[in-house]
Amino acid sequence: MLHREIETMKREELERIQEKKLKRLVRYCYQKIPFYRKLFKENNVEPDDIKRLEDLSKLPFTVKDHLRENYPFGMLAVDMKEVVRVHASSGTTGKPTVVAYTQNDIEWWSNLMARCLATAGATKDDIMHVAYGYGLFTGGLGFHYGGEKLGLTVVPSSVGNTKRQIMLIKDFGATILACTPSYALYISEVAKKEGLDPSSDFKLRLGFFGAEPWSESMRKKIEESLGLKAIDIYGMSELCGPGVSVECEHQNGLHIWEDSFIVEVIDPETGEVLDEGEKGELVFTTLDKEAMPLIRYRTRDISVVTKEECECGRTHARMLRVQGRSDDMLKIRGVNVFPSQIEHVLMGIEGVGESYLIVVDRDILDKLTVKVEMSEKFFNNKKNDVDILKKKIEEELNSALGIKVEVELAEPNTLPRFEGKAKRIVDLRKEKGIF
Ligand SMILES: [Zn+2]
Repeated sequence: MLHREIETMKREELERIQEKKLKRLVRYCYQKIPFYRKLFKENNVEPDDIKRLEDLSKLPFTVKDHLRENYPFGMLAVDMKEVVRVHASSGTTGKPTVVAYTQNDIEWWSNLMARCLATAGATKDDIMHVAYGYGLFTGGLGFHYGGEKLGLTVVPSSVGNTKRQIMLIKDFGATILACTPSYALYISEVAKKEGLDPSSDFKLRLGFFGAEPWSESMRKKIEESLGLKAIDIYGMSELCGPGVSVECEHQNGLHIWEDSFIVEVIDPETGEVLDEGEKGELVFTTLDKEAMPLIRYRTRDISVVTKEECECGRTHARMLRVQGRSDDMLKIRGVNVFPSQIEHVLMGIEGVGESYLIVVDRDILDKLTVKVEMSEKFFNNKKNDVDILKKKIEEELNSALGIKVEVELAEPNTLPRFEGKAKRIVDLRKEKGIF
């Protein structure tokens, strides 16, 4: 079936496909993966109990710890000789999370990625500069195979050596940039220092940004500084890599490819399935994977899902931009704070520069400090009053978060820069062993 036919099929038809694939998946996992057989038995559920889509909630969740406990290859449904590739995500603590692919899995993933690129408007005429990491991380190779599948010219640049990347983007006439949003901003910053105006000296027209949470204001900043349309793309190695969902030209949420995934939104505390439109943790069931299928995988990503048909004619559900990770959620004096909320406020204030750092500490009460870089323009103009800016940021953060925030202003280019995923939170409470 053509992508377009799949993308626009009636919901009933889509759900019929999901139901058929779900029943097959449950049987497959039960027969091929001892971990799932045991998990089903512990939860008193059998493959025959799953007759319709609604029965999905009878099945237990799969969590990241299950993958760690079965490190490295205990979750596989196939022999190692069927596996043609392995990826892994770096664990902040202990062992990495390992995922594996058969030849069919790679083909399937490449097709999904090609579909994502085409959905946002990429064509054979495009030259795509891939500055996601190539290696165990799925970003680089995911974009690479998807780009080739769609017939783009792919430049496998990977991360690092930013000045050389800038030269290549300019000289090769790249029209698409694929990298993390923070790296996109970094590229534009370095290009400006090299005396370039990225919005006119580059030919970029589209950018695919993901792998870390970002905000609407960051999108505007990237679009202005690089002169491109910034597309949000979502995925994670456990599900395939990038390619699970992407924005169409209407940019009103990311279409989740429901012929390959069933999405649910749950309350992260209770595990209860929430109604359409309610904010909670995304849970995915993979319907097409051979080597390492996952049932009801808890992503820790917080979002909202709608099944309303999109203006583009695609019927596949849309998720709003990920609003944070339930792991990253900071509990400060009892209030839930997502770093993305802070970023959103900062990016909307004139005089704020490219980088910031969130520091949480506790004396008697929790204390939230945000270190904020001033923009060069603001800093270099002697007429500007630093105290007024500090006060303005504090007030806006206080009102957005509902808690008191201390702001420390920093000179331009003094806070850490990140070439991979940005690490903007320092929780001193953890270092002190309070948690
Ligand atoms: Zn759409």
